[in-house]
Amino acid sequence: MRLVVVGGVAAGTKAASRARRVDPEAEITVYQEEPEPSISECGLPYFLSGTVSGRDNLIARTPEDFAGKGIDMLVRHRVEEIDAENKKLSVVNLNSGERFEDHYDRLVISTGARAILPPIPGVDLDGVFTLRFLTDADKIRTYVQKHSPKKAVVIGGGYIGLEVAENLHHLGMEVSLIEAAERVALAYGPEVAERVEAHLREKGVTVHAGAKVEELTGDERVRGARFGDQSLETDLVIIGAGVEPSVELAEKAGAEIGETGAIRVDRRMQTSLPGVWAAGDCVETVNLASGEPAWVPLGDTANQMGRVAGTNAVLGTESEGALEFPGVLGTGIFKVFDMGVGKTGLSEEEAERAGFETVSAGMEAASKAGYFPGSGRVFIKLICDSKTSRLLGAEAAGDGADKLIDVCATAIWGRLSCPDLVNIDLAYAPPYGPALSPVIQAATVLSGRLGRNDKGS
Ligand code: FAD
Repeated sequence: MRLVVVGGVAAGTKAASRARRVDPEAEITVYQEEPEPSISECGLPYFLSGTVSGRDNLIARTPEDFAGKGIDMLVRHRVEEIDAENKKLSVVNLNSGERFEDHYDRLVISTGARAILPPIPGVDLDGVFTLRFLTDADKIRTYVQKHSPKKAVVIGGGYIGLEVAENLHHLGMEVSLIEAAERVALAYGPEVAERVEAHLREKGVTVHAGAKVEELTGDERVRGARFGDQSLETDLVIIGAGVEPSVELAEKAGAEIGETGAIRVDRRMQTSLPGVWAAGDCVETVNLASGEPAWVPLGDTANQMGRVAGTNAVLGTESEGALEFPGVLGTGIFKVFDMGVGKTGLSEEEAERAGFETVSAGMEAASKAGYFPGSGRVFIKLICDSKTSRLLGAEAAGDGADKLIDVCATAIWGRLSCPDLVNIDLAYAPPYGPALSPVIQAATVLSGRLGRNDKGS
C-alpha cells in the first residue's frame, strides 16, 4: 500500500508518522515544497527577535529523522496535479527542475494555508514581507541584519501582526501597527481589543485602527506607508493581513470545497474524492459551539486532524479502528508583551451571527489572591445562550488568561451551562488564583443575569 502525503508541516507530518505507526509495512512518501519539513511556524515571531535562538530549534524533524522511521520526505518537491481517477500525481523537483509522475493508493492532502498579500501598490518593494514559513523569517532576518531598520510598520492587528509587533519592538525598532478594522484582535469583543490596544501603547507601539494602508512608498526599498491623509516613514513592513487555505491542487482534482473556501471533509477527514483524505489549515471543519462550518487554521488542531487522516488513510475509512475528528471550538491564545489573550467558542458578535440570543458578563478579577506578591489583573468575559444558558464562548486578557480559557473550552466542549460553572470545583491556592476562580466569578454574575444564580445543576 502506497500512501502519499502532500505538504509536510504540522498536519502532513503527523498524518505520515501516525500512518507509519498504524501500518509498519506501508510505503509512505511526503512531498514538501518548502526546504524543511516539520517547521514550528508558531515560533517564527520569536525567532525574528532572537527570543528563540537557533534556526534548527524550529525544525522538529529533519528528512533524515523521517527516513529513520521509513518515511520518504522529499523537500523542495511540489505536487502540481492530482489525477484522482487514475491515482497519479505530477511532481516537480524544485532544485533540479525535473518533472515526474508518481502514483498512490491513498493520498492525504495537507497543503495548509498561505499569507494573503493585499493588492496595495508597493507591496513588491524590498523590505516588505509576509511571515508564514521559516524561509520568510530567514528573509526578514537577513534584511534586518543588512539594513538595521529603525522604524517598522506592521499591517494587520490579528494575532500574528500583534506577535510580530512585539518582537520587532524587542529588536529596538519604533513600531507602528496599522489595522483596517475599527479595532485590533477583531476575533474578540471590543473589551479585549481595548485592553490590547492600551497595552501596546503603554509599551510604546503606535496603533492606528480604522486605517487602511493605500500605498507603500519608496524607490527600491520601502520608505513609507500611506493611509488616508497620513503617512508614516518606515524602513520595514511586515504584512499580517490574514491567511487563506491552499486548496487549488485539491479543487482542480475535483475535491469539493466548502462554504468557508477550505476543502470539505467528513468526520473521518475524507474528501469527496475516493482514497483521498485532507487535514490541517487547508480543510473546513465544524464549530462545535455554533454547529456551523468553520475554517480555523491553527497548529494544534492541524496535528489532531493529521492524526485522524493518517490513521484512516492506512486503515480505510470503513475500518473498525477508523478515527473521527469532531470539530473545533476555535480555542486560541497569544501573547502580546506582558498580556496573555485567549478565546474559545464564539464571541458575542459571532454568536449573534449564528442566530443565538446571547447574554454576557465581562469583569476584571485578581489573577492570584489579592495579597499575594505578583498578583495581577485579568479580564474575563463569558457569553451564553439566553434560552438554554449553555456557555457559547469565553475571552480573557491578562495574567493567567491561558488557564481560564482552557477551563472554559472544556466547559463548552462538555456543553456545560453557565450555572454549572458557579459551583465547579477548580484548584485554589493563593499563588495560583483568587479563592473563587475568575471563571466562577463571571459565571455567578452571568447566572444572575439569566435569573439562575442559585440553580447550579
Ligand atoms: P502549513 O503549515 O501551511 O504547511 C503546509 C505545507 O504544505 C507548506 O510547507 C507548503 O509549502 C506545503 N505545500 C503546499 N502545497 C504544496 C504542494 N502542492 N506540494 C508540496 N507541498 C505543498 N497556530 C497555533 O495553534 N498557535 C500559535 O501560536 C500559532 N502561531 C503562528 C504564528 C505564525 C507566524 C504563523 C505563520 C502561524 C501560526 N500558527 C499558530 C498556525 C500554525 O502554524 C498552522 O495552523 C499550522 O502550521 C498548519 O499546519 P498545516 O500542516 O496544516 O499547514
